[in-house]
Amino acid sequence: MWKYANPQLLELVAYEPGKPVEDLARELGIPHGEIIKLASNENPLGPSPKARQAMIDTIERAHFYPDGGGYYLREAIAEQVGLSMANVILGNGSNEIIEFLGHAYLQPGDEVVVARHSFAVYRLMAQLFGAKVVDVADPDFVADLDAMSAAITPKTKEVFIANPNNPTGTMVFQAEIDRFMERVPEHVMVVFDEAYYEFLDEAPDVIKYVRAGRNVVVLRTFSKIQGLANLRIGYGLAAPEIIEVLQKARQPFNANGIAQAGALAGLRDKAHMDATRRVTHEGRDLLQSEFLEMGLEFVPSHANFVLVRVGDGKKVFDALLRRGIIVRAMGSYGLPEWIRVSVGTMPQNKVFIAALRELASEGGLDGGSLVKAG
Ligand SMILES: *Cc1c(COP(=O)(O)O)cnc(C)c1O
Repeated sequence: MWKYANPQLLELVAYEPGKPVEDLARELGIPHGEIIKLASNENPLGPSPKARQAMIDTIERAHFYPDGGGYYLREAIAEQVGLSMANVILGNGSNEIIEFLGHAYLQPGDEVVVARHSFAVYRLMAQLFGAKVVDVADPDFVADLDAMSAAITPKTKEVFIANPNNPTGTMVFQAEIDRFMERVPEHVMVVFDEAYYEFLDEAPDVIKYVRAGRNVVVLRTFSKIQGLANLRIGYGLAAPEIIEVLQKARQPFNANGIAQAGALAGLRDKAHMDATRRVTHEGRDLLQSEFLEMGLEFVPSHANFVLVRVGDGKKVFDALLRRGIIVRAMGSYGLPEWIRVSVGTMPQNKVFIAALRELASEGGLDGGSLVKAG
């Protein structure tokens, strides 16, 4: 039936998610609880206790359709960021909003500008809509906004800037962003993906561009700091005219009520967010100082994961799996020598480091050797 499928799908390589705990537990024949998953940048503390309770309460109403308009959650988000409800759209994860952007703005032959090692979903969604991906070099794994603005042509419809970026953990700062925004022409939609925004001590302000009515969409999610990845809930912030267009692209009940209730309660639980930030910063410091000590090259991270160069990424990934630890191999990002590890709880981080040290002391894996920094 391939010959009847849309041609752009023939070349599309489906997104490769982190290996589910269930899969590995089944393969190793051990209980879920014994697996350490550091593969998808999830919150190792889980959801906030308040979110948990709100979701349990909402299960009683699981037979009712949700509020498709997401009134209370959108209101709370708007209040928190100092915008109005008309500036907010909910998504089934913020990934879904990337798809809405494709529905709304992309046609075959259009161009989408991304940094070379940016989040894979931008690429996939561009391809899905038959747009051409314009890949801009990112020296030292940092998005080069000057080069990205230079890559804009009359055919460019969207530019994606993940800040901080996944899988590199690098970020761009206010001055570069402002210079970029001065140069970007009016026909281009600039998408700032701030999935890891809450982990930053000092974050650049891009909402000012939403407020100024620029062609900007800011994406955020409850999957990372809020620990609600399973529920699939994220949001986009933009000028009301843009939100109105994106709203037309969505299914009526794309954000389920249990997720909305959990997100609303989580948003108000500052203590849980603070605890998560603390665990993340401590864990990240530990991972990075251990990598340094082991002589492994890594990319200093602004988010809740670290990209580290281990030699043969796939072999290290497989060897860690056999020890019950799931990380992410980076071959699909064109980085076969690297793995990405999410920051876990301190005991999890220590188990991971001990396993990595064991692999290193075995002289790498099956002839593959660990690469020294530099
Ligand atoms: C994890 C992540 C997302 C969030 O995806 P959801 O669909 O909200 O779970 C978005 N962008 C980037 C860069 C991410 O790493």
